Amino acid sequence: MSSPDDVLAELALLRAADAPTHGGRVLSYVYDSGIAELDRLAGAAAAMVQPVNGLDPTVFGSVAALERDLISFARTAFGDPAAVGSITSGGTESCILAVSAAREHARLAPGQGNVVVPSTAHAAFDKAGRLLGVSVRRVPVDPDTTRADVDAMAAAIDDDTFLLVASAPNYPTGALDPIVALGDLALRRGIAMHVDACLGGFALAWWPSPVDDWDLRVPGVTSLSADFHKYGYAPKGASVLLHTDRDRHRAAYFALTAWPGYPVVNPTLLGSRSVAGTATAWAITRYLGVDGYTALTGDVAAATARLRSLVDRIEGLRVVGEPVGPVFAATADTDVEAPVDPHRWAQEVDRLGYTLQMQPEYTQSDGTVLPASTHLTVTPVTAHVVGDLSLALWDGADNAGGLPPSSPPPPLRDLAAAFASGAVSVDDAVALDSSSTEAVLVEAGLDPHTDPAGASHTLDMGAVIAAIDALPRPVTAKMLVEFLAAYSNP
Ligand SMILES: *Cc1c(COP(=O)(O)O)cnc(C)c1O
Repeated sequence: MSSPDDVLAELALLRAADAPTHGGRVLSYVYDSGIAELDRLAGAAAAMVQPVNGLDPTVFGSVAALERDLISFARTAFGDPAAVGSITSGGTESCILAVSAAREHARLAPGQGNVVVPSTAHAAFDKAGRLLGVSVRRVPVDPDTTRADVDAMAAAIDDDTFLLVASAPNYPTGALDPIVALGDLALRRGIAMHVDACLGGFALAWWPSPVDDWDLRVPGVTSLSADFHKYGYAPKGASVLLHTDRDRHRAAYFALTAWPGYPVVNPTLLGSRSVAGTATAWAITRYLGVDGYTALTGDVAAATARLRSLVDRIEGLRVVGEPVGPVFAATADTDVEAPVDPHRWAQEVDRLGYTLQMQPEYTQSDGTVLPASTHLTVTPVTAHVVGDLSLALWDGADNAGGLPPSSPPPPLRDLAAAFASGAVSVDDAVALDSSSTEAVLVEAGLDPHTDPAGASHTLDMGAVIAAIDALPRPVTAKMLVEFLAAYSNP
């Protein structure tokens, strides 16, 4: 046995190697309110429910009480005081459950039915499709605005479509889909419509400038998801899925009395579940209240406006599409003499102390292209560093000016050429076993095992994203699985 102090010292060492979760240095993954009191409150709330099992709220009544309060808070924020819903572990679970509920409500079996989503919808919907046996149709968005194209969505609907999805806003570019027109379309076709507000729902609800209607008030919208662990400022592990209709909500449940054990009734995907996410989200919504969220959202909106206008002024970069809310992406402005490669820019900004997220180019099914870009998630703490960050964004663009786009490691460049010439087929590459795939990674200098124990891997993300851009996407998905599986295994 070790002493608790030794164990915690070991954990502290591991944590010290992580990217900074506070202070506004990382503009993705973390949603820092900048209020230290919130961290202490969440820690104390998590400790109080640590031994509780969320599986059975009739035994642990506190779980039901916390969930009632969170659902009440969320349905008021999203405009339907009569909505019903469930608390989940996160956005992915909420989205999978939204598809599952709509499919059950339509009384379709696995393998039947399809879901129509804009190409900018979160990957969670494809995950839902795979797990539930539902086909997911990604429909091209308008490449100029990056908003869903209502006519194209309408054309993609057929007799087997049971659900339409829209984002408020989407992750890649921060654009808000035309929810009113899509709600109208769903009504006319007699299908369900889900608004994925996982990312920005808890920011758009209090956005200081006018935003097109997007929430449960919009006719035709049948469900909405929003993550407490994003702009709700709760630690990871809490999201909400709301339904406008009680029967649609009940369709998400799984219940089984026909087995020899206890009667199983699960509102979400998990069985036994931690209540930490629920309790921390509850504590934070109680502490902040609508006033707190309104103030924090004001800071986010002001910082976002400043950063967007800065990017607009940087020669060689431009904002992608028409973002609304707290996230946006920048890409090379190819209309000027010296476009700045967005990933080189991210690398230069990283050297200046701020981590931005690179996104690959995406060719939509109609051949139009959403360009390679760099994503910025703006949080309240960004407002505290916005001056210094602005300098880094500006100087980073200066330093990146004239640099060519990153290229993949040479072995992967050769591999890309082999795919292009037909010497290697995608099917063969995807059929490779794990050790052969790992050998390709090691050869390319992407050895998942090279770093000393505990240190975060120092991947050259520019080269990785360049490889994703150069190689067939199913092949890069396979390689990334191998990388992460090997990285996390002894
Ligand atoms: C983050 C996100 C999700 C998935 O949420 P997780 O909490 O990461 O599982 C779904 N949709 C959108 C738009 C998101 O930004």
